[in-house]
Amino acid sequence: MQDLSRRDLLRTTAAVGAGAVAFPGLLSGGTPALASDGPEWPAGAKHPPATLTGRIVRPQDPGYANASLGWDELFVRYPLVIVFAQETQDVVNALAWARQHDVALRVRSGRHSLEGWSNVDNGIVIDVSELKSTQIDPAARVARVGAGLNQLEAVTALAARGLAVTTGTEGSVGLSGATLGGGFGFLTRYLGMACDNLIGAEIVVPVGADGAQAIQVDLRTYPDLLWALRGAGNGNFGIVTSLTYRVTPLNSVAYLQATWDGLDNLTGVFDTWQRTAPFTDPRLGTQLEIHRSQILLFGVLADGSEAEARALLEPILSIGNPEVTAQTGGWGDIYAGFQIPTAAEPANWKFFSQFTNDPFPTKAISVIRAFMADAPTDDSNFFTQAFGTGAQTREPVGGSAFPHRRALFYSEPGAGWGTRGVPNSGDAITPIAQAWIAEFSQALRPYVHGAYVNVPNIGMAEWETAYWGANFDRLRRIKARYDPHNVFQYEQSVPPASC
Ligand SMILES: Cc1cc2nc3c(=O)[nH]c(=O)nc-3n(C[C@H](O)[C@H](O)[C@H](O)COP(=O)(O)OP(=O)(O)OC[C@H]3O[C@@H](n4cnc5c(N)ncnc54)[C@H](O)[C@@H]3O)c2cc1C
Repeated sequence: MQDLSRRDLLRTTAAVGAGAVAFPGLLSGGTPALASDGPEWPAGAKHPPATLTGRIVRPQDPGYANASLGWDELFVRYPLVIVFAQETQDVVNALAWARQHDVALRVRSGRHSLEGWSNVDNGIVIDVSELKSTQIDPAARVARVGAGLNQLEAVTALAARGLAVTTGTEGSVGLSGATLGGGFGFLTRYLGMACDNLIGAEIVVPVGADGAQAIQVDLRTYPDLLWALRGAGNGNFGIVTSLTYRVTPLNSVAYLQATWDGLDNLTGVFDTWQRTAPFTDPRLGTQLEIHRSQILLFGVLADGSEAEARALLEPILSIGNPEVTAQTGGWGDIYAGFQIPTAAEPANWKFFSQFTNDPFPTKAISVIRAFMADAPTDDSNFFTQAFGTGAQTREPVGGSAFPHRRALFYSEPGAGWGTRGVPNSGDAITPIAQAWIAEFSQALRPYVHGAYVNVPNIGMAEWETAYWGANFDRLRRIKARYDPHNVFQYEQSVPPASC
């Protein structure tokens, strides 16, 4: 880990385009213009032939299968080549190469795409997971990190300096993928969405007819792109190579877990949770997880004591006779402590994301109970995260594409099945799990108000507005400015306004 001095930091943010990598002769001075328009380049300009650089893995190489495998083994792809970038220039070269050879491309960081969209048959995967730099300025409360950190690495690095930023709960998820789609977790009500704390990024975008260029994005330079990266940045505009966050001091947290056996208390627990947890002290983040035969409540109270956490959760804990455990400690240690090793998780997963603005009526809670009692496996669950009156209600300076500011809570039915490393082990359950998710989410449709782009709903008709609401039109205009040729496209990518 390397510290970034305040002077370095000021130099970095002041020098517009510093670190930008342009093809020689492409731009006057080699840096993009200071404007809210896209990078300026001669529209039809051809560029010198690009060569792939970095750690390159092709199908004939040992390790190709592992290099290609995503976290969700339901999806198997056969890319033509995988480039593990070692520096920004490798990403610039890979993007230019893909354009010059007319090869489909995908961007990848933590490999947790829940539809396998960070990989592609016959195409190039531009993987940033080996960009692991960490530059932290505790005095300025700013951290600039490589786009390859996973969430556990980011939490650990920041916690070592007594700092934190919002992340999701699963440590192996890529910080890039989570932040660029929004990013919520236990600290959301306290610090806002992960994307709300994103104040800058380095991103490689297409330029001219067949080139690529790295640009620095912040509130002054390409502010429209910063807005778009805050909630719609996943594989839509370019390849993010570093992320700059505003970070917050966090000394310790109280972590509490409550377990109710069976589902008999579900109505009371769920209803009390949805009527209290979203409105409680914003330092308290909670997740309720309903399984086939138990209900789990997890709470993290930032800078608070175990006694405070118990008191805030008392309305829920007083229902039935839950087993309750609690501990206080540094956020890095607590976060690392509740991780489940990937090897111990099922191989295949399917989720359906939903935001909800009004409390679920008893009828909806009964739907959850009926479906969970009939869940395809023990690993399947109905997951929720409290939102409500927390910090995520406030847009960051400069705004964000993430629209779900009024949500009471987020939820998702999720099915997990099959054994990692055992090919076809889940095949018999696959159609059952898929049907269960489809029917479960359909039954809850009357009670939900939108979906989460980071947990994409593949069958959803109006996914554009479900993910981004009224922001979709602006996203299309920004897309037309930065990626007019629609180089970055996949099943649910933002099309340019002109298409
Ligand atoms: C087990 C599990 C738990 C989760 N828990 C949470 C949670 O608590 N909170 C939450 O908010 N979300 C959660 N998610 C959703 C998670 O945020 C998304 O799956 C996220 O997009 C994964 O990012 P990744 O980098 O790991 O995945 P990847 O598969 O590498 O990428 C995901 C998407 O982001 C794009 N992308 C990745 N890196 C870049 C980059 N550098 N530049 C541009 N585009 C990029 C990819 O092209 C792809 O479209 C969870 C997912 C899983 C599987």
